[in-house]
Amino acid sequence: MRKTKIVATLGPALDDRDKLRAALEAGIDVVRLNFSHGAHDDHARRLRDVRELATGLERNIAVLADLQGPKIRLGLLPDDGIELAEGSEVTLVPGVEELDDYHSEGQVALPVVYEALGEDCEPGAMILIDDGSIRLVVSRAARDEVVARVVAGNVAKSRKGVNLPGVRVSAPSFTDKDAEDLKVAIDLGCDWLALSFVRTPDDLIDARARVHEQGGEAPLIAKLERPEAIDNLEAVVDASDAVMVARGDLGVEIGPERVPAIQKQIIAQANMVAKPVVTATEMLDSMINSPRPTRAEASDIANAIFDGTDAVMLSGETAAGTYPVEAVRTMARICEVAETSPHLVGDIARAPADVDDVANVVARSAVTVARDVEASALAIYSISGTSIQIVSKFRPPVRLVGLTPNETARRRTALMWGAEALLVPMKTESLDLITAAERVLVDGGIARHGDRVVIVSGTAGSSGGTNRIYVHRVGDELQR
Ligand code: PEP
Repeated sequence: MRKTKIVATLGPALDDRDKLRAALEAGIDVVRLNFSHGAHDDHARRLRDVRELATGLERNIAVLADLQGPKIRLGLLPDDGIELAEGSEVTLVPGVEELDDYHSEGQVALPVVYEALGEDCEPGAMILIDDGSIRLVVSRAARDEVVARVVAGNVAKSRKGVNLPGVRVSAPSFTDKDAEDLKVAIDLGCDWLALSFVRTPDDLIDARARVHEQGGEAPLIAKLERPEAIDNLEAVVDASDAVMVARGDLGVEIGPERVPAIQKQIIAQANMVAKPVVTATEMLDSMINSPRPTRAEASDIANAIFDGTDAVMLSGETAAGTYPVEAVRTMARICEVAETSPHLVGDIARAPADVDDVANVVARSAVTVARDVEASALAIYSISGTSIQIVSKFRPPVRLVGLTPNETARRRTALMWGAEALLVPMKTESLDLITAAERVLVDGGIARHGDRVVIVSGTAGSSGGTNRIYVHRVGDELQR
Protein backbone atom coordinates (compact mmCIF):
# COMPACT_ATOMS: atom_id res chain seq x y z
CA MET A 1 0.00 0.00 0.00
CA ARG A 2 1.30 3.43 -1.01
CA LYS A 3 1.98 5.80 1.90
CA THR A 4 3.04 9.01 0.13
CA LYS A 5 -0.02 11.04 -0.77
CA ILE A 6 -0.74 12.36 -4.26
CA VAL A 7 -2.19 15.82 -4.84
CA ALA A 8 -3.52 16.39 -8.37
CA THR A 9 -4.62 19.70 -9.84
CA LEU A 10 -7.97 19.67 -11.62
CA GLY A 11 -8.53 21.38 -14.95
CA PRO A 12 -9.90 20.72 -18.44
CA ALA A 13 -7.79 17.55 -18.85
CA LEU A 14 -9.83 15.78 -16.15
CA ASP A 15 -13.23 17.33 -16.88
CA ASP A 16 -14.40 14.13 -18.51
CA ARG A 17 -16.02 12.13 -15.68
CA ASP A 18 -14.64 8.78 -16.84
CA LYS A 19 -11.14 10.21 -16.87
CA LEU A 20 -11.62 11.78 -13.47
CA ARG A 21 -12.87 8.46 -12.09
CA ALA A 22 -9.87 6.67 -13.60
CA ALA A 23 -7.49 9.24 -12.14
CA LEU A 24 -9.06 8.92 -8.67
CA GLU A 25 -8.80 5.14 -8.94
CA ALA A 26 -5.19 5.48 -10.08
CA GLY A 27 -4.34 7.09 -6.74
CA ILE A 28 -5.31 10.76 -6.30
CA ASP A 29 -5.68 11.49 -2.57
CA VAL A 30 -6.18 15.25 -2.71
CA VAL A 31 -7.60 17.30 -5.59
CA ARG A 32 -6.40 20.86 -5.97
CA LEU A 33 -8.70 23.58 -7.27
CA ASN A 34 -6.36 26.22 -8.63
CA PHE A 35 -8.09 29.59 -8.24
CA SER A 36 -5.48 31.18 -10.55
CA HIS A 37 -7.41 29.65 -13.43
CA GLY A 38 -11.03 28.88 -14.16
CA ALA A 39 -14.33 30.41 -13.08
CA HIS A 40 -16.06 29.78 -9.76
CA ASP A 41 -18.63 27.63 -11.55
CA ASP A 42 -15.84 25.39 -12.87
CA HIS A 43 -14.50 24.84 -9.36
CA ALA A 44 -17.98 24.12 -7.99
CA ARG A 45 -18.71 21.59 -10.76
CA ARG A 46 -15.35 19.86 -10.33
CA LEU A 47 -15.75 19.67 -6.56
CA ARG A 48 -19.24 18.19 -6.92
CA ASP A 49 -17.96 15.57 -9.38
CA VAL A 50 -15.09 14.62 -7.07
CA ARG A 51 -17.32 14.29 -4.01
CA GLU A 52 -19.80 12.10 -5.91
CA LEU A 53 -17.15 9.87 -7.44
CA ALA A 54 -15.23 9.58 -4.15
CA THR A 55 -18.37 8.35 -2.40
CA GLY A 56 -19.05 5.81 -5.15
CA LEU A 57 -15.45 4.60 -5.09
CA GLU A 58 -15.34 4.63 -1.26
CA ARG A 59 -12.20 6.76 -1.40
CA ASN A 60 -11.24 9.36 1.17
CA ILE A 61 -10.44 12.38 -1.03
CA ALA A 62 -9.68 15.86 0.30
CA VAL A 63 -10.18 19.08 -1.64
CA LEU A 64 -7.50 21.77 -1.52
CA ALA A 65 -8.42 25.29 -2.68
CA ASP A 66 -5.33 27.17 -3.83
CA LEU A 67 -5.66 30.97 -3.76
CA GLN A 68 -3.66 32.93 -6.30
CA GLY A 69 -2.18 35.53 -3.95
CA PRO A 70 -0.38 38.62 -5.24
CA LYS A 71 0.72 36.99 -8.49
CA ILE A 72 1.76 39.63 -11.00
CA ARG A 73 0.75 38.90 -14.60
CA LEU A 74 0.88 40.46 -18.04
CA GLY A 75 -2.49 41.69 -19.27
CA LEU A 76 -4.04 40.67 -22.56
CA LEU A 77 -1.83 40.61 -25.64
CA PRO A 78 -2.62 39.87 -29.31
CA ASP A 79 -3.29 36.13 -29.91
CA ASP A 80 0.13 35.35 -31.38
CA GLY A 81 1.92 37.17 -28.58
CA ILE A 82 4.60 39.83 -29.02
CA GLU A 83 8.24 39.15 -29.82
CA LEU A 84 10.68 40.82 -27.45
CA ALA A 85 14.06 41.07 -29.14
CA GLU A 86 17.23 40.88 -27.08
CA GLY A 87 18.79 44.32 -26.65
CA SER A 88 15.57 46.21 -27.41
CA GLU A 89 13.68 48.42 -24.97
CA VAL A 90 10.17 47.68 -23.79
CA THR A 91 7.66 49.87 -21.95
CA LEU A 92 5.60 48.20 -19.22
CA VAL A 93 2.32 49.94 -18.42
CA PRO A 94 1.28 49.24 -14.80
CA GLY A 95 -2.26 48.52 -13.64
CA VAL A 96 -3.93 47.92 -17.00
CA GLU A 97 -5.54 44.85 -18.57
CA GLU A 98 -4.98 45.77 -22.22
CA LEU A 99 -3.62 48.49 -24.48
CA ASP A 100 -4.96 50.14 -27.65
CA ASP A 101 -1.50 50.09 -29.16
CA TYR A 102 1.22 47.51 -28.35
CA HIS A 103 3.85 49.20 -30.53
CA SER A 104 3.90 52.74 -29.29
CA GLU A 105 6.48 55.05 -30.92
CA GLY A 106 8.38 52.10 -32.37
CA GLN A 107 8.80 50.44 -28.98
CA VAL A 108 6.92 47.40 -27.66
CA ALA A 109 4.47 48.21 -24.85
CA LEU A 110 3.08 45.55 -22.49
CA PRO A 111 0.23 45.86 -19.98
CA VAL A 112 1.08 44.54 -16.49
CA VAL A 113 -1.79 43.87 -14.09
CA TYR A 114 -0.09 45.41 -11.05
CA GLU A 115 -0.67 49.04 -10.04
CA ALA A 116 2.52 49.57 -8.02
CA LEU A 117 5.04 48.14 -10.52
CA GLY A 118 6.62 51.56 -11.14
CA GLU A 119 6.80 52.37 -7.42
CA ASP A 120 8.30 49.02 -6.39
CA CYS A 121 10.98 48.77 -9.12
CA GLU A 122 14.19 50.77 -9.21
CA PRO A 123 16.63 51.11 -12.12
CA GLY A 124 18.72 47.92 -12.31
CA ALA A 125 15.92 45.67 -10.98
CA MET A 126 15.34 42.41 -12.84
CA ILE A 127 11.88 41.60 -14.24
CA LEU A 128 11.22 37.98 -15.27
CA ILE A 129 8.32 37.04 -17.53
CA ASP A 130 6.89 33.54 -18.14
CA ASP A 131 8.99 31.64 -15.56
CA GLY A 132 12.09 33.60 -16.57
CA SER A 133 11.99 32.77 -20.28
CA ILE A 134 12.08 36.56 -20.82
CA ARG A 135 14.42 38.71 -18.71
CA LEU A 136 14.36 42.49 -18.52
CA VAL A 137 16.47 44.99 -16.60
CA VAL A 138 14.75 48.21 -15.56
CA SER A 139 16.25 51.40 -17.01
CA ARG A 140 13.65 53.91 -15.77
CA ALA A 141 10.72 53.52 -13.42
CA ALA A 142 7.87 55.96 -12.91
CA ARG A 143 4.33 55.58 -11.55
CA ASP A 144 2.71 55.24 -14.97
CA GLU A 145 5.44 53.42 -16.94
CA VAL A 146 8.52 51.28 -16.51
CA VAL A 147 11.09 51.19 -19.28
CA ALA A 148 13.34 48.10 -19.37
CA ARG A 149 15.98 46.53 -21.62
CA VAL A 150 15.45 42.97 -22.84
CA VAL A 151 18.44 40.82 -21.79
CA ALA A 152 16.85 37.48 -22.75
CA GLY A 153 14.20 37.64 -25.45
CA ASN A 154 11.24 35.45 -26.39
CA VAL A 155 7.59 35.78 -27.40
CA ALA A 156 5.48 37.32 -24.61
CA LYS A 157 1.98 35.86 -24.33
CA SER A 158 -1.22 36.98 -22.60
CA ARG A 159 -1.48 36.52 -18.83
CA LYS A 160 2.00 35.08 -18.33
CA GLY A 161 3.46 35.45 -14.83
CA VAL A 162 5.80 38.30 -13.95
CA ASN A 163 8.35 37.88 -11.13
CA LEU A 164 10.42 40.60 -9.48
CA PRO A 165 13.23 38.74 -7.70
CA GLY A 166 14.92 40.80 -5.04
CA VAL A 167 12.24 43.52 -5.18
CA ARG A 168 10.17 44.17 -2.05
CA VAL A 169 6.73 43.83 -3.57
CA SER A 170 4.39 46.21 -1.76
CA ALA A 171 1.15 44.45 -2.82
CA PRO A 172 -0.72 42.96 0.15
CA SER A 173 -0.35 39.18 0.46
CA PHE A 174 -4.11 38.74 0.45
CA THR A 175 -5.71 40.37 -2.60
CA ASP A 176 -9.31 41.38 -3.36
CA LYS A 177 -9.52 38.39 -5.69
CA ASP A 178 -8.35 36.11 -2.85
CA ALA A 179 -11.12 37.50 -0.62
CA GLU A 180 -13.74 36.65 -3.28
CA ASP A 181 -12.21 33.22 -3.91
CA LEU A 182 -11.99 32.51 -0.19
CA LYS A 183 -15.76 32.98 0.19
CA VAL A 184 -16.35 30.52 -2.65
CA ALA A 185 -13.83 28.00 -1.28
CA ILE A 186 -15.46 28.10 2.15
CA ASP A 187 -18.97 27.81 0.70
CA LEU A 188 -17.83 24.82 -1.30
CA GLY A 189 -16.51 23.17 1.87
CA CYS A 190 -12.85 22.85 0.89
CA ASP A 191 -10.76 20.79 3.31
CA TRP A 192 -7.45 22.65 2.96
CA LEU A 193 -6.72 26.20 1.87
CA ALA A 194 -3.39 27.09 0.23
CA LEU A 195 -2.03 30.66 0.29
CA SER A 196 0.37 31.78 -2.43
CA PHE A 197 3.43 34.04 -1.97
CA VAL A 198 3.32 33.96 1.82
CA ARG A 199 6.04 36.22 3.23
CA THR A 200 5.63 36.37 7.00
CA PRO A 201 3.71 34.66 9.84
CA ASP A 202 1.39 37.70 9.83
CA ASP A 203 0.15 36.67 6.38
CA LEU A 204 -1.13 33.43 7.93
CA ILE A 205 -2.56 35.14 11.01
CA ASP A 206 -4.44 37.57 8.76
CA ALA A 207 -5.73 34.81 6.44
CA ARG A 208 -6.86 32.69 9.39
CA ALA A 209 -8.87 35.62 10.75
CA ARG A 210 -10.52 36.02 7.34
CA VAL A 211 -11.38 32.32 7.22
CA HIS A 212 -12.98 32.54 10.65
CA GLU A 213 -14.85 35.75 9.70
CA GLN A 214 -16.41 33.80 6.84
CA GLY A 215 -17.43 31.03 9.23
CA GLY A 216 -14.81 28.61 7.88
CA GLU A 217 -12.21 26.52 9.68
CA ALA A 218 -10.10 25.10 6.85
CA PRO A 219 -6.45 24.63 7.82
CA LEU A 220 -3.90 26.75 5.96
CA ILE A 221 -1.11 25.55 3.69
CA ALA A 222 1.64 28.15 3.26
CA LYS A 223 3.07 27.98 -0.26
CA LEU A 224 6.76 28.72 0.16
CA GLU A 225 7.87 30.53 -2.96
CA ARG A 226 9.14 33.93 -1.82
CA PRO A 227 12.67 34.54 -0.49
CA GLU A 228 11.21 36.36 2.55
CA ALA A 229 9.33 33.18 3.54
CA ILE A 230 12.56 31.19 3.40
CA ASP A 231 14.30 33.84 5.52
CA ASN A 232 11.43 33.50 8.06
CA LEU A 233 11.06 29.73 7.61
CA GLU A 234 10.71 28.60 11.22
CA ALA A 235 8.12 31.23 12.11
CA VAL A 236 6.17 30.77 8.87
CA VAL A 237 5.99 26.99 9.34
CA ASP A 238 4.90 27.49 12.97
CA ALA A 239 2.10 29.84 11.89
CA SER A 240 0.81 27.46 9.20
CA ASP A 241 -1.01 24.12 9.40
CA ALA A 242 0.94 22.61 6.50
CA VAL A 243 3.40 23.83 3.87
CA MET A 244 4.07 23.43 0.17
CA VAL A 245 7.47 23.58 -1.52
CA ALA A 246 6.13 25.60 -4.47
CA ARG A 247 9.14 25.03 -6.68
CA GLY A 248 7.76 26.85 -9.74
CA ASP A 249 7.75 30.39 -8.45
CA LEU A 250 10.44 29.62 -5.86
CA GLY A 251 12.82 28.63 -8.67
CA VAL A 252 12.08 31.83 -10.58
CA GLU A 253 12.48 34.00 -7.49
CA ILE A 254 15.72 32.54 -6.11
CA GLY A 255 17.17 30.64 -9.09
CA PRO A 256 16.62 26.94 -9.87
CA GLU A 257 20.06 25.96 -8.54
CA ARG A 258 19.02 26.88 -4.99
CA VAL A 259 15.76 24.87 -5.07
CA PRO A 260 17.10 21.39 -4.11
CA ALA A 261 18.75 22.47 -0.85
CA ILE A 262 15.82 24.71 0.12
CA GLN A 263 13.41 21.83 -0.59
CA LYS A 264 15.33 19.71 1.95
CA GLN A 265 15.38 22.57 4.45
CA ILE A 266 11.61 23.14 4.20
CA ILE A 267 10.78 19.44 4.47
CA ALA A 268 13.05 19.01 7.50
CA GLN A 269 11.51 22.02 9.24
CA ALA A 270 7.94 20.84 8.61
CA ASN A 271 8.80 17.36 9.88
CA MET A 272 10.44 18.74 12.99
CA VAL A 273 7.14 20.35 14.04
CA ALA A 274 4.90 17.59 12.63
CA LYS A 275 3.20 19.63 9.89
CA PRO A 276 2.29 18.00 6.56
CA VAL A 277 4.52 19.03 3.65
CA VAL A 278 3.75 18.84 -0.07
CA THR A 279 6.46 18.94 -2.73
CA ALA A 280 5.12 20.53 -5.91
CA THR A 281 5.69 21.49 -9.52
CA GLU A 282 7.19 19.90 -12.63
CA MET A 283 7.38 16.47 -10.97
CA LEU A 284 6.26 14.79 -14.19
CA ASP A 285 6.34 17.81 -16.47
CA SER A 286 7.30 15.82 -19.59
CA MET A 287 4.11 13.76 -19.18
CA ILE A 288 2.09 16.81 -20.23
CA ASN A 289 3.02 15.68 -23.75
CA SER A 290 4.38 12.16 -23.36
CA PRO A 291 2.96 8.92 -21.91
CA ARG A 292 6.23 8.14 -20.13
CA PRO A 293 8.29 10.06 -17.56
CA THR A 294 11.95 10.91 -17.84
CA ARG A 295 14.40 9.14 -15.50
CA ALA A 296 15.16 12.52 -13.96
CA GLU A 297 11.49 12.97 -13.05
CA ALA A 298 11.25 9.52 -11.48
CA SER A 299 14.36 10.35 -9.51
CA ASP A 300 12.97 13.73 -8.43
CA ILE A 301 9.80 12.19 -6.98
CA ALA A 302 11.74 9.45 -5.19
CA ASN A 303 14.21 11.95 -3.77
CA ALA A 304 11.41 14.15 -2.40
CA ILE A 305 10.14 11.02 -0.63
CA PHE A 306 13.63 10.22 0.68
CA ASP A 307 13.79 13.84 1.95
CA GLY A 308 10.64 13.07 3.97
CA THR A 309 7.83 14.74 2.03
CA ASP A 310 4.29 13.65 2.97
CA ALA A 311 2.78 14.35 -0.43
CA VAL A 312 3.83 14.98 -4.02
CA MET A 313 1.85 17.14 -6.42
CA LEU A 314 0.86 17.19 -10.09
CA SER A 315 -0.02 20.53 -11.70
CA GLY A 316 -0.22 20.98 -15.49
CA GLU A 317 0.18 17.19 -15.86
CA THR A 318 -3.39 16.56 -14.63
CA ALA A 319 -4.93 20.01 -15.24
CA ALA A 320 -4.05 20.48 -18.88
CA GLY A 321 -1.87 17.56 -20.03
CA THR A 322 -2.56 14.90 -22.65
CA TYR A 323 -1.91 12.00 -20.23
CA PRO A 324 -3.47 12.94 -16.89
CA VAL A 325 -4.45 9.41 -15.81
CA GLU A 326 -1.10 7.96 -16.85
CA ALA A 327 0.63 10.72 -14.87
CA VAL A 328 -1.21 9.74 -11.66
CA ARG A 329 -0.55 6.05 -12.28
CA THR A 330 3.15 6.74 -12.91
CA MET A 331 3.47 8.88 -9.82
CA ALA A 332 1.78 6.21 -7.68
CA ARG A 333 4.17 3.54 -8.98
CA ILE A 334 7.25 5.68 -8.36
CA CYS A 335 6.05 6.39 -4.79
CA GLU A 336 5.38 2.72 -4.04
CA VAL A 337 8.81 1.62 -5.21
CA ALA A 338 10.59 4.51 -3.46
CA GLU A 339 8.88 3.55 -0.21
CA THR A 340 10.48 0.09 -0.30
CA SER A 341 13.95 1.61 -0.51
CA PRO A 342 16.37 1.61 2.43
CA HIS A 343 16.80 5.34 1.70
CA LEU A 344 13.34 6.02 3.09
CA VAL A 345 13.81 7.88 6.34
CA GLY A 346 12.07 6.37 9.34
CA ASP A 347 10.94 8.19 12.45
CA ILE A 348 11.54 11.66 11.07
CA ALA A 349 9.70 13.86 13.53
CA ARG A 350 11.58 15.46 16.40
CA ALA A 351 12.23 13.48 19.52
CA PRO A 352 9.84 14.82 22.13
CA ALA A 353 11.91 17.41 23.92
CA ASP A 354 9.16 18.70 26.15
CA VAL A 355 7.98 16.38 28.91
CA ASP A 356 4.62 18.15 28.88
CA ASP A 357 4.08 17.41 25.19
CA VAL A 358 2.26 14.21 26.10
CA ALA A 359 0.50 13.76 22.72
CA ASN A 360 3.89 13.70 21.04
CA VAL A 361 5.45 11.29 23.58
CA VAL A 362 2.45 8.97 23.27
CA ALA A 363 2.52 9.10 19.45
CA ARG A 364 6.20 8.19 19.34
CA SER A 365 5.84 5.41 21.89
CA ALA A 366 2.76 3.96 20.19
CA VAL A 367 4.75 3.47 17.00
CA THR A 368 7.38 1.50 18.93
CA VAL A 369 4.70 -0.58 20.65
CA ALA A 370 2.92 -1.32 17.34
CA ARG A 371 6.20 -2.45 15.79
CA ASP A 372 7.23 -4.57 18.77
CA VAL A 373 3.91 -6.42 19.13
CA GLU A 374 3.74 -6.85 15.33
CA ALA A 375 0.33 -5.17 15.30
CA SER A 376 -1.69 -5.34 12.12
CA ALA A 377 -2.76 -1.73 12.67
CA LEU A 378 -2.05 1.33 14.76
CA ALA A 379 -5.39 3.07 15.25
CA ILE A 380 -5.66 6.59 16.65
CA TYR A 381 -8.89 8.08 17.88
CA SER A 382 -8.78 11.77 17.09
CA ILE A 383 -11.52 14.37 17.00
CA SER A 384 -9.57 17.08 15.18
CA GLY A 385 -7.16 14.80 13.26
CA THR A 386 -4.07 16.39 14.86
CA SER A 387 -2.99 13.23 16.68
CA ILE A 388 -3.18 11.28 13.42
CA GLN A 389 -0.88 13.89 11.84
CA ILE A 390 1.63 13.57 14.68
CA VAL A 391 1.72 9.76 14.55
CA SER A 392 2.09 9.89 10.76
CA LYS A 393 5.33 11.84 11.20
CA PHE A 394 6.84 8.95 13.18
CA ARG A 395 6.38 6.85 10.02
CA PRO A 396 4.83 3.73 11.62
CA PRO A 397 5.81 0.50 9.83
CA VAL A 398 2.25 -0.88 10.26
CA ARG A 399 -1.08 0.35 8.85
CA LEU A 400 -1.96 3.72 10.32
CA VAL A 401 -5.69 4.19 10.79
CA GLY A 402 -7.25 7.40 12.04
CA LEU A 403 -10.58 6.90 13.79
CA THR A 404 -12.66 10.02 13.97
CA PRO A 405 -16.28 11.02 14.49
CA ASN A 406 -15.64 14.05 12.33
CA GLU A 407 -16.05 13.82 8.53
CA THR A 408 -13.94 16.95 8.00
CA ALA A 409 -11.06 15.54 10.05
CA ARG A 410 -11.36 12.28 8.13
CA ARG A 411 -11.00 14.06 4.79
CA ARG A 412 -8.02 16.13 6.01
CA THR A 413 -6.05 12.96 6.74
CA ALA A 414 -5.93 12.40 2.96
CA LEU A 415 -2.88 14.70 2.95
CA MET A 416 -1.03 12.88 5.76
CA TRP A 417 1.66 10.34 4.97
CA GLY A 418 0.43 6.77 5.39
CA ALA A 419 -2.85 7.69 7.07
CA GLU A 420 -6.11 5.97 6.32
CA ALA A 421 -9.18 7.17 8.17
CA LEU A 422 -12.47 5.63 9.23
CA LEU A 423 -15.53 7.22 10.80
CA VAL A 424 -16.53 6.03 14.27
CA PRO A 425 -19.22 7.39 16.57
CA MET A 426 -18.15 9.94 19.18
CA LYS A 427 -17.02 7.96 22.24
CA THR A 428 -16.70 9.01 25.83
CA GLU A 429 -15.81 5.65 27.38
CA SER A 430 -12.48 4.18 26.40
CA LEU A 431 -13.70 0.57 26.45
CA ASP A 432 -16.54 1.54 24.10
CA LEU A 433 -13.95 3.08 21.87
CA ILE A 434 -11.92 -0.14 21.77
CA THR A 435 -15.04 -2.09 20.84
CA ALA A 436 -15.87 0.42 18.10
CA ALA A 437 -12.27 0.40 16.84
CA GLU A 438 -12.23 -3.39 16.70
CA ARG A 439 -15.47 -3.39 14.71
CA VAL A 440 -14.37 -0.89 12.05
CA LEU A 441 -10.91 -2.43 11.70
CA VAL A 442 -12.44 -5.88 11.14
CA ASP A 443 -15.22 -4.57 8.85
CA GLY A 444 -12.63 -2.63 6.88
CA GLY A 445 -10.55 -5.80 6.36
CA ILE A 446 -7.64 -4.20 8.24
CA ALA A 447 -7.53 -6.67 11.18
CA ARG A 448 -8.72 -10.25 11.68
CA HIS A 449 -9.68 -12.36 14.69
CA GLY A 450 -6.53 -13.01 16.74
CA ASP A 451 -4.54 -10.07 15.34
CA ARG A 452 -3.00 -7.58 17.70
CA VAL A 453 -3.96 -3.94 17.19
CA VAL A 454 -2.70 -0.89 19.03
CA ILE A 455 -5.29 1.74 19.85
CA VAL A 456 -4.30 5.26 20.88
CA SER A 457 -6.82 7.60 22.42
CA GLY A 458 -7.20 10.46 24.83
CA THR A 459 -9.03 11.32 27.99
CA ALA A 460 -12.37 10.40 26.62
CA GLY A 461 -14.21 12.79 24.41
CA SER A 462 -11.86 15.78 24.42
CA SER A 463 -9.63 17.01 21.61
CA GLY A 464 -5.89 17.36 22.25
CA GLY A 465 -5.72 14.99 25.21
CA THR A 466 -4.11 11.92 23.62
CA ASN A 467 -2.68 9.97 26.56
CA ARG A 468 -3.45 6.24 26.19
CA ILE A 469 -1.94 3.31 24.34
CA TYR A 470 -3.93 0.09 24.44
CA VAL A 471 -2.75 -3.22 23.00
CA HIS A 472 -5.71 -5.37 22.09
CA ARG A 473 -6.08 -8.81 20.56
CA VAL A 474 -9.07 -8.84 18.20
CA GLY A 475 -11.79 -11.08 19.70
CA ASP A 476 -10.51 -10.90 23.31
CA GLU A 477 -13.07 -9.92 25.88
CA LEU A 478 -12.58 -6.52 27.49
CA GLN A 479 -12.42 -6.34 31.28
CA ARG A 480 -14.67 -3.58 32.57
C1 PEP B 1 4.48 26.84 -7.73
O1 PEP B 1 4.77 27.99 -8.04
O2 PEP B 1 5.30 25.91 -7.70
C2 PEP B 1 3.08 26.54 -7.34
C3 PEP B 1 2.75 25.38 -6.83
O3 PEP B 1 2.17 27.54 -7.47
P1 PEP B 1 1.24 27.78 -8.75
O4 PEP B 1 1.09 26.45 -9.43
O5 PEP B 1 -0.02 28.30 -8.17
O6 PEP B 1 1.97 28.78 -9.55
